[in-house]
Amino acid sequence: MKKWTVGVQFRKNRRKQLAFLILTGMCVVFFVQSFQAFCRITREASQLNPAPSMTVVLDAGHGGEDGGAQAPDGSLEKTYNLEIAQILRRYLQNAGFSVIMTRETDDDLSDPSLPTIHTRKEDDLRKREQLVKENSPCYFISIHQNKFSDSRYGGTQVLYSPNHEDSQKVAQAIQESFATHLQPDNTRTPKAATDSIYLLWHIQQPAVLVECGFLSNEEDLALLQNPVYQHKVASCILLGVAAYLEKEKGVVIPSASWYDDTITFVGAETTLWLEKIKFPMSAPNAAFLLLNGMGNARAVVSGIPWKKNWRPRYALCRPAMRGTGM
Ligand SMILES: [Zn+2]
Repeated sequence: MKKWTVGVQFRKNRRKQLAFLILTGMCVVFFVQSFQAFCRITREASQLNPAPSMTVVLDAGHGGEDGGAQAPDGSLEKTYNLEIAQILRRYLQNAGFSVIMTRETDDDLSDPSLPTIHTRKEDDLRKREQLVKENSPCYFISIHQNKFSDSRYGGTQVLYSPNHEDSQKVAQAIQESFATHLQPDNTRTPKAATDSIYLLWHIQQPAVLVECGFLSNEEDLALLQNPVYQHKVASCILLGVAAYLEKEKGVVIPSASWYDDTITFVGAETTLWLEKIKFPMSAPNAAFLLLNGMGNARAVVSGIPWKKNWRPRYALCRPAMRGTGM
């Protein structure tokens, strides 16, 4: 009886030990496989989604003796390009980008000792291209204005370089941003650049050219001469770049850092976005937004006191205010 009990006990222990060993073995196999899978997924994810570049080479088109297109009132494209680029630079820097300007004054980059306008222009473009090479990886954004023989045509047109697959995505996001925030009737789609646009044709980084408006269109010209509208154009470009980064790279630009200025839109309807909440507002009441960096946002939204945890996404005027004497 006792022997039998010991025998049963022994077999029971053996079974327990065996079960324990099998279980331990299974656990080890499971953990090893999980770890291998984790390493593989992490490796593949890092190959698929390398950290996106946060450098922008920002190009104010033309400059110096090259004025670009001329408006009917005699004003030159190069001036508007630089004004908008300078505003956009600040917005991009506030959003965390490192920005390299191809020019900051009314000068081109060419060697003045070169004999002809043609050779100087070639030299200027090659030096802009060189700046992109030196700062790669980067995004290239070129600011220009359009002109056409038929003055009816207006609105923004974005072009993209054919050399990098992200160029079209950035261009698409910027073009959509204009349609969403500023020009609801603008149904244009981005165009691939041809060899007639030297920089987009040669640059190998994601590269776009934004034709902000038509100098040949009376309404566009009046808008482009207004600093408030220039801010809106720069905002649309930034919002497009931010939308591209969020959609394609999973990078969210910290929105509260987008504005460090007091932006006052007077006499028009405005929409203020706080996170995903949309506040349509009348301008004198609510179209001001005062931000002093993260956490110091102060504003009154239609009489609602600002809540500390609200993060402003952006403030933009509604399209209805086109031509209302901003
Ligand atoms: Zn141009």
